[in-house]
Amino acid sequence: MKPILKYYDKKGNLKIVKDKNKITNPAASIIKFKVLKNGKKWPCCDFYGKCTNKAYAEVYPFLMNKGKKGWSYLCRKHYYKEQKRLGWKLPSCLSVEW
Ligand SMILES: [Zn+2]
Repeated sequence: MKPILKYYDKKGNLKIVKDKNKITNPAASIIKFKVLKNGKKWPCCDFYGKCTNKAYAEVYPFLMNKGKKGWSYLCRKHYYKEQKRLGWKLPSCLSVEW
């Protein structure tokens, strides 16, 4: 199933992306959601925008590198892969709540 794309508008409200070109907030990060078997929507991994596994950790790469905007979610596999690559310095939160 295709993930649902959402973003935060300027007021901090989570909105569904209907048309990517119409997002008025240039700093908006798009969050992908997948619908679980129980009908709940859950953020999914956005590793290079290709992975659609369920999110395992919320990560904050902008805290390491000021030039990089936004934050993202990583699945278990990509979380450990990224942490290893970055020497376990990637700020993260392992309790993804939604
Ligand atoms: Zn992943």
